[in-house]
Amino acid sequence: MLLSSLASIDSGQAAPVRKLAKRKPTLEPPFKCEKPKLRIVVDVGHTPDSYGALSARNDPEFGFNFHLAKLITAKLKSEGFAAARLLVTDGKARPSLLKRVSAANDGRADLFLSVHHDSVPDTLLEAWEFDGAKSYFSDRFSGHSLFVSERNPHFATSLMLARMIGRQLKDQGLHYASQYTLPVMGHYRRQLLDKDVGVYRYDGLVVLSQTRSAAVLLEAGSIINRDEEMTMNSPERQEMIAGAVATAMGEFCEKR
Ligand SMILES: [Zn+2]
Repeated sequence: MLLSSLASIDSGQAAPVRKLAKRKPTLEPPFKCEKPKLRIVVDVGHTPDSYGALSARNDPEFGFNFHLAKLITAKLKSEGFAAARLLVTDGKARPSLLKRVSAANDGRADLFLSVHHDSVPDTLLEAWEFDGAKSYFSDRFSGHSLFVSERNPHFATSLMLARMIGRQLKDQGLHYASQYTLPVMGHYRRQLLDKDVGVYRYDGLVVLSQTRSAAVLLEAGSIINRDEEMTMNSPERQEMIAGAVATAMGEFCEKR
């Protein structure tokens, strides 16, 4: 989920982060894409210590992210992206954001994809009992969503990749989460850049704005929605998403 203010440089101590943005991007056009050489970093959102959202059945978001990101990385490798790698970060929330940005930049990533699962603002949560414990859910919204930052040095490339991923997910019959434009989202409201495939603009997000490569964040689905949580746990849906991402990366590589 994106709801933690720690994820944004609009709050907190932003100064050390901004310095990173001034470094020259390594990827300058024209850029020829060779599948085995394309350094795709698949970032597992959050850490074991700072696990993101809690699902309707009290499972941490980090586990969902880790599983799906691992599958996406394996799928990319199996389709010829030999240099794709999984990025797992530890520690507390804010330092972990800087660590993952450094890891991507130091490793001269060409593309950065951050994998998350969605929740809702606390005001929308409803209580229920699961496994004997008081738990929280919201069945109001569902679907995936994609985010890009206009502060990323490769904004146009990021948007292009996000659109390609969104297109592939739509072609699989999946729908995107449209609530980010609604007033009920309060300060989590975002500008919808592509209303066909669900790409939103989120300029201040550290992992999108401070990475020197093109960067996209994928909220793969909602784990606070009780039905969608079950779906996100299913191998069928996980394979579908991993396949859609790999197909989009292939298309991206061909069009560069
Ligand atoms: Zn998250």
